Amino acid sequence: MNLLIHDATIITCNKKTIREGAIATEGMEIVDIGKSSTLKAKYRRGYEKINAKGKVVIPGLINTHQHAAMSLLRGYADDLPLQEWLEKWIWPIEKHMTPHDIYVGALLTATESIMSGTTTVKTMYHYTPEENEAKAFSEAGLRGVVGHVCFSWRKKEDKKALNELAKTWHNKADGLIRTSVDPHSAYTVDPKYMKELHEKRRELNARYGSEKSPIISHIHVAETEDETQKVRNAFGVQVKGGVMEYLDSLGVLDKHVIAAHCVALTEKDIAVAKQRHVKVSHNPISNLKLASGVSPVPKMLEAGVTVSLGTDSPCSNNTADMFSVMKTAALLHKGINKDPTLMPAQQVLELATIEGAKALSWEKEIGSIEIGKKADMVIVNFDQPHLHPIYDETSHLVYAAKASDIETVIINGRISMENGKLTTLNVHKVVKMVEEAKENLLNKLRHQR
Ligand SMILES: [Zn+2]
Repeated sequence: MNLLIHDATIITCNKKTIREGAIATEGMEIVDIGKSSTLKAKYRRGYEKINAKGKVVIPGLINTHQHAAMSLLRGYADDLPLQEWLEKWIWPIEKHMTPHDIYVGALLTATESIMSGTTTVKTMYHYTPEENEAKAFSEAGLRGVVGHVCFSWRKKEDKKALNELAKTWHNKADGLIRTSVDPHSAYTVDPKYMKELHEKRRELNARYGSEKSPIISHIHVAETEDETQKVRNAFGVQVKGGVMEYLDSLGVLDKHVIAAHCVALTEKDIAVAKQRHVKVSHNPISNLKLASGVSPVPKMLEAGVTVSLGTDSPCSNNTADMFSVMKTAALLHKGINKDPTLMPAQQVLELATIEGAKALSWEKEIGSIEIGKKADMVIVNFDQPHLHPIYDETSHLVYAAKASDIETVIINGRISMENGKLTTLNVHKVVKMVEEAKENLLNKLRHQR
């Protein structure tokens, strides 16, 4: 499919705003960007036209920390401490989730993500060969890095799942899907296994990855203050300093590792993240909801660490809405540091786009509107009271826009949502499947009791 989006305000997230601009795409790629008058004359026939007058085009948002399948548990248990929430509520119901449930949950998250302007999602969950998150994302036409989450208690199953996931899905579905090796955390993966998983990633990259499309690693790091103690308790190991420093002592950190949360970091941890080029996923809403603390994001940015934004799971957030994450990220650090100049709108929008792409080692293809990159773009309808008057579109995108202002979404050159209507999936059908899956889960829990 070839497209011409014209008469738009284009925020490229590559340091440019183009007014009365146009973007031409051919197949999966952006082939031209410029003034509307020029491009309209140049691309006449064979291009589907989208008139974006009064609208703003931005790169698709990139959510770097999700557990997509967990949308099935949205609202099931709230307002509890992290450990109790996981151990008494989430894990007991999760063990009844079938491969079909995982697929259905991921379909729901994919639907919600696209409809709220997110075009790429990094998800960490259990890979099951029959049905899984990768299948759901590819059917929804959502770009994603799909990982299998690893725990010390199931090493053999993990390794099998990692092999199958990479073999079946890495760089598949027209390049929409990439895969990752995801140790859950330093307190659930023992030091020996952590090193083995690092080696596993190397092995899988040699077989299925490339410098251009690497298989990355994703891990929860320092989500809470007591995480170093949890590592000591779990494995009886010496942990001097913070969790990042501990992981570095195992030799498992490099530029393809993305660390979620990074709340309880020491100064040394930040220096280590910078030195090893570790990428960070900041999840402000989840951290607030679980009262985990506040990640030292301004300090990390100052140190030159790549920071991106994520929602975290649909039960610790509880939506996939990256607009609310952007606004919260912008406000939180101003408030806690009593400094309104921190996290300006322009920077926050970049964290949700180009920095997200860097975090996923995908910045050569996505994260900004540039010739030669994949056509992942979102058209925001500014023709609404809360987005006027317009002095600065970026300010509105971070402080005033809502996910429901998204009108059209293009992923890999394909229109996934047009004028508010999803084109890849039937939303009502997805919701019906979700309600059925929920009933089945509750029935299983009742029978168990
Ligand atoms: Zn998480």
